[in-house]
Amino acid sequence: MRGIPAITLTLLLISQGASTFAQNNPEGETTTTTTTTTEAKGAPQAKEISDQKTRSDEFALGSKFYQTKKFAEALKHFQKAAATQADDGEARIMAGYCYYSLKQYEKALKEYTLAADKGKLISVRNKAQRLAQRLSSYLRGICPGNCLKPSMPGWRKMNVPGKPDRLVWMVYPYLDPEGRGGSEFWSNDHMGEVIEYVNGRPINKGVCPICNGTGKVSLPK
Ligand SMILES: [Zn+2]
Repeated sequence: MRGIPAITLTLLLISQGASTFAQNNPEGETTTTTTTTTEAKGAPQAKEISDQKTRSDEFALGSKFYQTKKFAEALKHFQKAAATQADDGEARIMAGYCYYSLKQYEKALKEYTLAADKGKLISVRNKAQRLAQRLSSYLRGICPGNCLKPSMPGWRKMNVPGKPDRLVWMVYPYLDPEGRGGSEFWSNDHMGEVIEYVNGRPINKGVCPICNGTGKVSLPK
C-alpha cells in the first residue's frame, strides 16, 4: 500500500500552487480525482517525475535487499527513497524496520516518530504511530499488550464483599444494549492477564501471550 496515485495527485496539485491541499486534507489517500488540467511546465514537472522515479527505484532496491535480510544495504536505499519529496512516509517506516532488524532500536524509534509526524497519508502516520508506541514500550521494558500491569494508572482500593482488603482493583465500565451502565473489575491477583472489550463488554482473555503474564518484555540484544 504505497498509494502511488494519491501521491501523483498531490504532486500535481502542489505543482499548480495548491500546496495547501495536502495539509488541509489529511485523508489525501481517499481524495477524488478532481481537476488537474495544468499546462505542462517543463522543468518542475520533469523534476517531480525524476523525484518519483528515484523514490520508486530506491524503494524497490531497498525491498530487494530487505527480503534477503541484507538490512544495512536495504537501509541505504530506503533512506534515499525517504529523502525524496515523493515519499509518503512508507520508506521512512521501512528504514525503521531496517534499524530494528539491525538492533539499533533508538534509531528505529526515530524513524517511526518522523513518519508519524511527517507522513503524507493518514494511514501511514497511524501505522508509524502504532510502531513508535509499541517500540517505545519495549524500550522501557513494559509489555505493550492489554494485560493488567502495576504501571497502569487506575488501580484503586475497593470494598468488595468476601475479598481481602489487601487487593487493589481495576474497573472496566461498559454499557449494555439498553444503554444501562455497569462495570466489571479485576484485582491485582490477575496481573498479567489480558482484559479486552468484546462486543462492548470487558472479557478476561487469560495470560498475556506477549509477556507471558509478567508484564515485562525485552528486545533481542
Ligand atoms: Zn503483557
